[in-house]
Amino acid sequence: MAHIIDGKTAAQTLRTQITQQVAALHSPGISPGLAMVLVGEDPASASYVHSKARQTEECGMQAFEHKLPQSTTQQQLLRLIEQLNGDARVHGILVQLPLPDHIDAVAVLSRIAPDKDVDGLHPVNTARLADGNPNIVPCTPLGCLVLLRNELGDLSGKQALVIGRSHLVGRPMSHLLLSQHCTVTTAHSRSQNLAELCRQADILVVAAGQPELVRGSWIKPGATLIDVGINRQHGEDGKTALVGDVAFREAVEVAGAITPVPGGVGPMTIACLLLNTLLAALRQQGMSAPEWAVLAH
Ligand code: NAD
Repeated sequence: MAHIIDGKTAAQTLRTQITQQVAALHSPGISPGLAMVLVGEDPASASYVHSKARQTEECGMQAFEHKLPQSTTQQQLLRLIEQLNGDARVHGILVQLPLPDHIDAVAVLSRIAPDKDVDGLHPVNTARLADGNPNIVPCTPLGCLVLLRNELGDLSGKQALVIGRSHLVGRPMSHLLLSQHCTVTTAHSRSQNLAELCRQADILVVAAGQPELVRGSWIKPGATLIDVGINRQHGEDGKTALVGDVAFREAVEVAGAITPVPGGVGPMTIACLLLNTLLAALRQQGMSAPEWAVLAH
């Protein structure tokens, strides 16, 4: 039976470390601040922003919420971003996605000052990660890396397969694993022989958005599995269940360690947003990252 990787506990540990570091910064008079921008009234997005703001404040940091109407123009949004770029109380800026159709998300994300881009989606930050010199890294893949490092320690020389090549998860994950000296393969919707690729992997990160795509028989015995997928499935009883991209009940019999869905990668994403905000604040003050932070060295 695989070890079940507990993302909730790992996220709590990370938040405790962040809270302690933030408290230590208060005596030199530094208070990390995160600005969150929400455009429109989508209830799911509003709930994400609310939970991000609550957790930011629980860690002792300042949260600045900017809720704009659906009718906001791109120009108005860009003006707000410029204002936040110049605000010394704001160390991190997050624009909640998706944006309304009339706004060009790439143009907006590219306007955030790269040092305040705590989602790690600015082209300067994606290029730095691809170049092996990461600055701010997208939160979900960073969370996956923390879980892998907690579980395995040094990842050097491991055979890693990432399924998915999105800008948000798969692509940055592959670059991160390469920076950890893994031998990395990236698979996607046009890849052939996915099962064979999986059988070679010591580390498997699955971010395809396809319920139970990876079967137990595809997994190398003892492999470490990180399941990023979140899929809603409607049962015959009318209830909705969350399932990952890995057939958990089959995989748990073969893998060495596996993240559950929910309770695996999910909780790490907001914790890593808080970490990125802390690290951005430290960097903007010319201070170095704490010893415990992943990628600190
Ligand atoms: P996406 O749709 O942008 O990308 C999916 C990727 O998977 C694509 O690159 C595609 O080529 C690949 N893919 C699709 N079907 C495939 C198949 N049959 N075989 C191989 N590759 C295939 O999705 P995303 O934003 O990267 O998210 C992926 C999943 O992760 C979704 O379920 C999403 O809900 C979840 N997610 C979870 C978190 C979290 O915090 N846990 C965060 C972001 C995304």
